[in-house]
Amino acid sequence: MNPDRYNRCCFYCTHNETLHERMIEIKPLHVSTFYLNRDQTHRGRSIVALNWHVDELFQLSNVERNEFADDVAHAAQTLAKVFSPDKINYAIYGDSVSHLHVHLVPKYKTDFDWDDAFVNNPSEPKKLTEYDYQNLIQGIKANLVYEEDLE
Ligand SMILES: [Zn+2]
Repeated sequence: MNPDRYNRCCFYCTHNETLHERMIEIKPLHVSTFYLNRDQTHRGRSIVALNWHVDELFQLSNVERNEFADDVAHAAQTLAKVFSPDKINYAIYGDSVSHLHVHLVPKYKTDFDWDDAFVNNPSEPKKLTEYDYQNLIQGIKANLVYEEDLE
């Protein structure tokens, strides 16, 4: 990876404390990293973040964009396998943290926000114990789809 592609101000690039306060790494994927969001208002809420810094999807080459989309698809398929949601929501925002990342949110028809956008930064995020986060991560890792392709 070209070090010039990293942004020293971005927590996805520096892996600083802010990143660890917000998410826990599940697994490195091909060109990205799969994280569990510490807010579990929606069980299984995750993030797939590109391994280098770009602000916009259109700044990737066609090959890179396809590889990133494959990673997102594999992560989403894994979440579908583990949580059996009615739908997975995908969100790319990046107003305050522009580094390209996709929020993956398993949703159910019984959810309070079904048929609406999930709240990205809820006023009362649902936090779990470290033990419960690790159990969730182990369950996800045990069900990774196409794991052999992601190493
Ligand atoms: Zn970055």
